[in-house]
Amino acid sequence: MCGIVGYVGPREALPLLMGGLRRLEYRGYDSAGVAVQENGTLEILRAEGKLDNLAAIVTKHPTPGHTGIGHTRWATHGRPSEQNAHPHVDCGGVTAVIHNGIIENFEMLKAPLVAKGHRFTSETDTEVAVHLLEDELAQGSTLDEAALAVLPRLEGAAALAFISAKDPGKIVAARISNAGGVIVGYGEGENFLASDAPALLEHTRRVSFLDHGEVAIITKDSVSFRAITGEKIDKKIETITWDPIAAAKSGYKHFLLKEINEQPRAISDTLLGRVERSSGRVVFDDNLKMDDAFVRGIPRISFVACGTASYAALVGKYLIERLARIPCDVEIASEYRYRQPAVTKGQLVVAVTQSGETVDTLAAMEEAKKQGARLLSVVNVVGSQASRVSDDVIYLHAGPEISVASTKAYAAMLVDLYLFAIFLGQRRGTTCRRSLMRCSERSRRSARSPTATTRRATSSSSVAG
Ligand code: GLU
Repeated sequence: MCGIVGYVGPREALPLLMGGLRRLEYRGYDSAGVAVQENGTLEILRAEGKLDNLAAIVTKHPTPGHTGIGHTRWATHGRPSEQNAHPHVDCGGVTAVIHNGIIENFEMLKAPLVAKGHRFTSETDTEVAVHLLEDELAQGSTLDEAALAVLPRLEGAAALAFISAKDPGKIVAARISNAGGVIVGYGEGENFLASDAPALLEHTRRVSFLDHGEVAIITKDSVSFRAITGEKIDKKIETITWDPIAAAKSGYKHFLLKEINEQPRAISDTLLGRVERSSGRVVFDDNLKMDDAFVRGIPRISFVACGTASYAALVGKYLIERLARIPCDVEIASEYRYRQPAVTKGQLVVAVTQSGETVDTLAAMEEAKKQGARLLSVVNVVGSQASRVSDDVIYLHAGPEISVASTKAYAAMLVDLYLFAIFLGQRRGTTCRRSLMRCSERSRRSARSPTATTRRATSSSSVAG
């Protein structure tokens, strides 16, 4: 979801890692961290919030070292906090991992590790990987052997990178399914790693892209590749010809085209971690605070939105009415504050906005708040004004949308509103099979009633006319 960088070579790693993370800043994140390895030791620096917070720590602790990894996190498991920021380390503090995506089976893997005495210090799904690695390294494995033993046990979508003071001067990186890219950049007597090309272009244009189920073993003088199943593989070295601006467009002619092509990734990112595999229950992170009692008592939902977001809200209304049986209306945000709306007690007002800065939507939210509504924003930009003034937030996780014609943000809005409708329905007991069947039986009956027949006849004749 967010950014990964890595360096191994003769130069100081820390400034290069920070430079790489800066290049990925446009992707958005909630915390950041770096691990630098040198002379049998490993140092970790991490900070919650903006990269400037990490930069301030780096200035105070200019840790020397020639091998390192860096990460910007977009939390899926555990609060955005310094403690949950990556890299995560093993019990001995000698091996570190950074990770984009989700390890779906982390709870199953964690329980036996805890029973064996491993000490976990974060709430993340990620940390399990480094403790598994610790056990393998304790058997005398190299870092790549240990990674090849651990990676097949991880389920989900993940881009990972490991370093260890037990196997110095080496980065092992892997890609499982699609949680963003893993790109190896080739230098002269030095090599690089990044999740996205803009972080590499300053240093090299010669790269290899990892595919699903592939592992890269990177030292300053060599890069080799394995399948996750252990066989050696060859990878093509490709030359990126894009300039930095084109790199931000990932080689597409313009941002609209890039963002259209990013829709599958936006959809899978917004779904990640939000449906419990075992129960099928929809769960959101700590940004959605409403409890079950509130959900059960919601008398009505009003959406406020402008433009594209208001079309997403219309779909949201249909979904919520069908799945959660709560009456909804959609208001064009620019009109809401002028028409003296009446807000009922316990009413939820849902603001849908990509940027979270749409002035009319913010003004509608203020009006609703003044009248005592609870505010939920469905928003893309972390820390935007809409997210700050809301009681609850569902983030889209679509990544930055530059094109004015909305594509991937709209797709992510639909997915999130669908998830929210199921979330409400599950807690109100309206999404169970029986109640949905009752509902469709009612609509079948009304379709057979004379009024409905007349209505349908009228509408079809008007279409024909
Ligand atoms: N699931 C991991 C976490 O919550 C990684 C999140 C990310 O992709 O940044 O820490």
